[in-house]
Amino acid sequence: MDFEAFFEDRLANLKEEGNYRVFTDIERHKGSFPAATRHHDGDTHDVTVWCSNDYLGMGQHAVVLKAMHEALDRCGAGAGGTRNISGTNHYHVLLERELADLHDKESALLFTSGYVSNWAALSTLAAKIPGCIVLSDALNHASMIEGIRHSKAEKHIWAHNDPEDLDRRLSAMDPDRPKLIAFESVYSMDGDIAPIAEICDVADKHGAMTYLDEVHAVGLYGPRGGGIAERDGLMDRLTVIEGTLGKAYGVLGGYIAASTALCDFIRSFASGFIFTTALPPAVAAGACAAVKHLKSSELERSRQQRNVRVVRQRLADIGIPTLDNPSHIVPVMVGDPVKCKEISDWLMANHGIYVQPINYPTVPKGTERLRITPSPVHSDEDIERLIVALSDIWSQCALHRKYDVA
Ligand SMILES: *Cc1c(COP(=O)(O)O)cnc(C)c1O
Repeated sequence: MDFEAFFEDRLANLKEEGNYRVFTDIERHKGSFPAATRHHDGDTHDVTVWCSNDYLGMGQHAVVLKAMHEALDRCGAGAGGTRNISGTNHYHVLLERELADLHDKESALLFTSGYVSNWAALSTLAAKIPGCIVLSDALNHASMIEGIRHSKAEKHIWAHNDPEDLDRRLSAMDPDRPKLIAFESVYSMDGDIAPIAEICDVADKHGAMTYLDEVHAVGLYGPRGGGIAERDGLMDRLTVIEGTLGKAYGVLGGYIAASTALCDFIRSFASGFIFTTALPPAVAAGACAAVKHLKSSELERSRQQRNVRVVRQRLADIGIPTLDNPSHIVPVMVGDPVKCKEISDWLMANHGIYVQPINYPTVPKGTERLRITPSPVHSDEDIERLIVALSDIWSQCALHRKYDVA
């Protein structure tokens, strides 16, 4: 077989469909996010980032950077091993305590990313609990899907955010089989929020475990940043809460929070936890500082929510269609992969505005979009420049405008 020709052929297909991914090469500027420098064709340009998952700008926050500098100076660069073989640094232990407290659980367990935490925890639970059936929301993240698939457990997909469908499916199952319900709180591409209480009611009725991915909610919702489950007073109803340290907390890493026995079980049996080098101590220290800070500071959250409201309102004023949702994610719907990328390229070239096009397979074909994430570090001038630029391209491409008639 001509391997090279095979690779090139498949890539050519992607390009034809408009689904080939081009990475934007940027240097983020600490102290002036969302400003960054873009490297392109041997040149550099100033850009404003409008699509970051560093939702609160914690990646440049002084308390986070100070904690990272201190840990780097105390402990050096890497952890030096897996958690089991010399790699458990005191900063990991402190961070796990901080996370258990955040979610009011007995324990927490760190992973090298949110992806790995979902993959490892779900694959281990579903594979090791004898006869386990997994019930997975139709729009779950790839990391959950892959973990469930890897477990080889029986899997049923229930209609997105639909507790009645979940209940119907559970009612048809053998009541004696163990069951695990996996879902998210804030869905990252549509920004909609799961009816957690109703899903927990259904879980209780059928004696099922619940596993909630709060990756797009931790740090952002709840009085201490514990997520939607904290905001709604539901944390004790969830068996496992999973989160990331790489989005609102601005650093890197993932975790689960649950009972001591469950965390110890994953610690003891999950390959994706056991056989990999622990996070660098400075990373754990920075994440710990971010979690701690956002437990007591409302400033970042309230400023972010204010900017989300302003961006939504300004877009509505000029008739640019966004997907309505109750979260901090503002999807501007385009509905065509080629056009979506063209708009993104044009915003970058003409206005230095960076919004990555979101195409298949991240979202279904026909729902291609620009996913805008306003943060507390965007200024009112940044917002105005975004609005002017979008209005301009909407006119140039004669794209559909939609005005709410009062
Ligand atoms: C980003 C994401 C993850 C993975 O988290 P990382 O820390 O980036 O690996 C997990 N779940 C959802 C819903 C995500 O969007």
